[in-house]
Amino acid sequence: MPLVCLSLTAKTIEEDLATIERYRGKIDLVELRVDLLNPTEAFALRDFPSVAGLPCILTVRRKCDGGCFVDGEGQRLVMLAKALAYARPDTSANYAYVDLESDFRVPAVEEACHTFGTRIIRSMHNVAGMPADLDKAWAQLACEPHEIPKLAVTPKSAADLARLFTWARGLPPGERIVIGMGEYGIPSRILAERIGTCISYTSAMHSGLPAAAPGHLDPSILEDNYRFRELNRHTEVYGIGGSNVLASRMPQLHNTAFKALGRDAVFLPIPANDVSSFLAALEATEACGAVVAVPLKIAILKSLSRRSPEVEDIGACNTLVREDGGWAGYNTDAEGFERALLEFLGRSDLQGLRATLVGAGGVALAAARVLAAFGASAVVINRTVAKARALAERHGFAFGPCTEHSTELVADHSDIIIQASRVGMEGETEGDPLDWYDFTGREAVFDLIYRPERTILLERAQRAGCKTTNGWKMLRYQSAAQFKLWTGAQPPVSFFA
Ligand code: NAP
Repeated sequence: MPLVCLSLTAKTIEEDLATIERYRGKIDLVELRVDLLNPTEAFALRDFPSVAGLPCILTVRRKCDGGCFVDGEGQRLVMLAKALAYARPDTSANYAYVDLESDFRVPAVEEACHTFGTRIIRSMHNVAGMPADLDKAWAQLACEPHEIPKLAVTPKSAADLARLFTWARGLPPGERIVIGMGEYGIPSRILAERIGTCISYTSAMHSGLPAAAPGHLDPSILEDNYRFRELNRHTEVYGIGGSNVLASRMPQLHNTAFKALGRDAVFLPIPANDVSSFLAALEATEACGAVVAVPLKIAILKSLSRRSPEVEDIGACNTLVREDGGWAGYNTDAEGFERALLEFLGRSDLQGLRATLVGAGGVALAAARVLAAFGASAVVINRTVAKARALAERHGFAFGPCTEHSTELVADHSDIIIQASRVGMEGETEGDPLDWYDFTGREAVFDLIYRPERTILLERAQRAGCKTTNGWKMLRYQSAAQFKLWTGAQPPVSFFA
């Protein structure tokens, strides 16, 4: 079972001890990051393990390895000697581990560790990227048999993450630590068992402390959101891939549902900017299914082994299901949009409704199909007019640019304004895509964005007296359809609460 280690990043030992108390029960061991402590704390290093009450890793991380220690190797040796010397007969009063970099070879320290029962984690950190040759980097660790090898690298894409997983899974069995740092590496911290690492490092970010390394999660996220303790070699893996997925609410939604149904499955974010690296990451993590997010919903089409009738019809895919021979693509945006829209308007059809659709990307394709199928007439406005035109012509709608030149068109289609562009989405382009349009207060406004809860557009519409809603309900409805595609089961009622 991989262990959860809390890296302690406070400036004093007293604060570090208080942090341990807050997380006790969620963690198996702690890493004292001496390089982050105030220099005056050096005198308390020796006694730390006896008061921590958990196995401790001693680490004095240099700046070049991603830490803060800049005082030179002589001074670092003094720190290590202060902490490791005078071993106690009760071994729990000694450091269980010390993290020593592969280029730090001091026989006296190694002998002391051996004598006092402190195991050496022999580490190499690449904070700048991924070594081109992982085998060579691994060999450079030059571990003794009783040492634990640790390689921490920084994937710069989902393709790098895939390479790391594939490489690590090819290593012979044994105790080791393999970490992908940074946002692209996050799946390696959650799927510790699958990548074959014996320790997953975390930081107490929920207690207001800084992360010890990029990509650390808070232990409560690891345990509560991802059920880290229950994950195993056979756990089904699902993910959401796209450019802005780290703050997605989908992991929480799907993981809560998996738990409620007692399903051995986990859902995690897989940051990816292009289709081929996303698919490589899904293969390397042996995923069973996935959500395709912005901006991959149309680009993914050519990589599908089978397309559902909805995908064929809409021209965009937001859901992958693994099948023999590849990935089957589905579209649940249309179903989610349809349910949320009809509920919002309190109608069962859209005959006579005049709608403005802002955007002509993946989700707008699905929304346009629903509007046409239910009898609405619409105008599509978009930054790229050619895309608005192509979408509008498929359904017999009007089209125009997303500028003040479309004011009259919008006024003529203003029973409902459906905002389906990325403008206003957290982490994307900030702003209000209709800042040139004055609401009369009679329009219903449906912004498909759910992060933030209220976009600038929605706030402005609400102030004008419009009836408004965001994309939260749609997200739940379309996610429920995805859940059913993957599991064959309806999600629990809590999914919609
Ligand atoms: P997409 O395929 O990447 O399409 C993006 C759309 O936004 C395009 O129309 C694009 O215009 C426009 N756009 C992007 N940046 C822009 C900018 N700087 N200025 C003006 N227009 C810009 O994305 P998508 O998958 O359709 O998603 C669109 C939005 O819907 C996202 O915010 C997403 O969160 C939301 N959504 C919500 C749900 C839900 O369940 N609630 C589901 C899916 C999507 P161009 O054509 O000119 O590039």
